[in-house]
Amino acid sequence: MGRIRLLPETVASQVAAGEVVERPASVAKELIENSIDAGARKIDIMIRRGGISIVRVIDDGCGMDRDDGLLSLERHATSKIRSAADLQAVATLGFRGEALPSIASVSRFRLTTREARALAGTEIIVNGGKLEVVRDGGEAPGTQVEVRSLFYNLPARRKFLRSENTESRNIEHQIHLQAISHPQIGFSLLRDDRMLFQLPAAATLSDRIRDLYGVELLQRLVEVSGTASHKIQISGFIGQAGLSRQARTQQLVFVNGRAIESSLITAGLREGYHTALMKGQYPVTFLFLELDPAAVDVNVHPAKREVRFRDPNGVREAVVRCIQQTLKGGRAAWQEKFRAPVNLPAAISAKTAPDLRLRPEVSTPEESHRELPHFGTTVAGVGLSAVTSAKADDPGRVTPSQIVGQAPRLPASRSDSPTLQRHTTKAEGQQFQIIGVLSKLYVLMENADGLVLVDQHAAHERILFEELRRRMEEQGVPTQKLLLPQTFDVPPRDADWIESNLSVLQRMGIGIESFGPDTFKIDSLPSFLNVSEPAQFMRKVIDDLKSAANSASAMRLGEEMIAKSVCRHAVKANDPLRYPEVEKLIRDLLDCDLPYCCPHGRPTMIQISLAELEKKFGRKI
Ligand code: ADP
Ligand code: MG
Repeated sequence: MGRIRLLPETVASQVAAGEVVERPASVAKELIENSIDAGARKIDIMIRRGGISIVRVIDDGCGMDRDDGLLSLERHATSKIRSAADLQAVATLGFRGEALPSIASVSRFRLTTREARALAGTEIIVNGGKLEVVRDGGEAPGTQVEVRSLFYNLPARRKFLRSENTESRNIEHQIHLQAISHPQIGFSLLRDDRMLFQLPAAATLSDRIRDLYGVELLQRLVEVSGTASHKIQISGFIGQAGLSRQARTQQLVFVNGRAIESSLITAGLREGYHTALMKGQYPVTFLFLELDPAAVDVNVHPAKREVRFRDPNGVREAVVRCIQQTLKGGRAAWQEKFRAPVNLPAAISAKTAPDLRLRPEVSTPEESHRELPHFGTTVAGVGLSAVTSAKADDPGRVTPSQIVGQAPRLPASRSDSPTLQRHTTKAEGQQFQIIGVLSKLYVLMENADGLVLVDQHAAHERILFEELRRRMEEQGVPTQKLLLPQTFDVPPRDADWIESNLSVLQRMGIGIESFGPDTFKIDSLPSFLNVSEPAQFMRKVIDDLKSAANSASAMRLGEEMIAKSVCRHAVKANDPLRYPEVEKLIRDLLDCDLPYCCPHGRPTMIQISLAELEKKFGRKI
């Protein structure tokens, strides 16, 4: 008897603080969210020593009177919801009434606040949860919260903090999230007396992205297009295919204006990007999902980072579809850059610019004898060498049927006298001018925007990949019989799965049939695959397909197989190509669904705009 006691209020707050206030970045996040909820137009943040020494947030929001100021420091005191029913549709960032008392219980805390028309403001000081001072204060309208010596009274927690640099970066990330989701609010960050950024209130999301990350990134983003579904609106910007990062820091996702982390959405993004994303890399996204507040539960985690969707599959599929549509749409924008006419020096264009529109497959004998200059192979770096020549009827080019059937023929190289010719192509409305080949790998071209570098290997991979995929969709996959059919056992659950997906597997070129309970037999595989252990291969196929979750992604695995084999067959670096081949390669590439990256998500082309060049040469600042 008598062993159970109610915890004193301060201790209870400290316990709760464990969940809400993990590190200085959580303090910054909670304070900024409060400022946003208070209708601030401008939020100034100051941190020192990774926020451990101080985090200060000043806003010009609605402020509080003295009573509210005091009440805001009580646990479960909030102005944002009133009843359990309100939890169904939370429209503010905060609602738990926990942040301020939690923070104040583990720091030296000072709040000054003033309503717009009030004669005086209020200053409240709390140390380690103990109210020390309440008095009139004369600050400008709005609220200022200063949090010093975080965890000074909880040494155990303090030990868990990382280096000041890491903590600072975490805070910066939090501020980026808020700044991106609220472009109309001005933000500034002062870190150890250095102004890291000052973002003016912006009219649009793209302005904010430009102010925060620079115009170069903005240029590589595509605005999200396409309607996801009538229940979910998706907007924002995503990186065009080929743009990726090693970390997830620029994969920003917001649900109803709240930055969230969701493995469900991450999976949807990956699937949407599919071959447009390099393995192990993360996409760049500024993605905003809007859905009925009643269809998401934000009250899952005290830090409100996670949400629960009522219809997770619907959300995932909406994201996948939206990314796919956007990337395809982005292609048009890219192609636009090849549509505008290229300004050619008159003498050159008159002599050497053939219009290949009418006879795209056949080049004039004169044309095909002409070879591209190859740059960069001499010490001087400007010399022309390794110029090759071939007859007009030499096919040279690798085609998908060659991949499927036999080893591809790579173009032969022969020496000839060097010529420096420039070629303009206007095929199918596209205009570009091939300048030469650098290091036997990079095709240099000029388009209306400036310089384009194309990785010939990656480009060829993309072309073969799309052509094979198209064939696979139309005619199914060419298969090859195994010398010895193989049987293999699977656990009962997988057996069920295979049974119900036999037709999908067969369409992918896998000759598989049931061979007794939980045993299957494979007698053929796609001919372009080189599989040494069919049983092991099948287990991987099953795992991959199961994780793809729905049958709509069945083609996906086939695609992965193609991507792998295509890489082995595509023209390699160091394979010298002749002009018609290069020209055809570029034309085919521009006709692809996703021309700007190879099937592994690496870029196929890099555009260096004239503006960038001018900047580099100091012609323009
Ligand atoms: P919550 O945000 O979940 O309501 P908090 O503990 O973060 O809980 O804040 C408690 C209350 O204090 C808020 O509901 C709000 O009314 C008030 N408040 C906090 N910060 C500010 C601010 N910067 N400006 C105006 N009011 C604020
Ligand atoms: Mg709050």
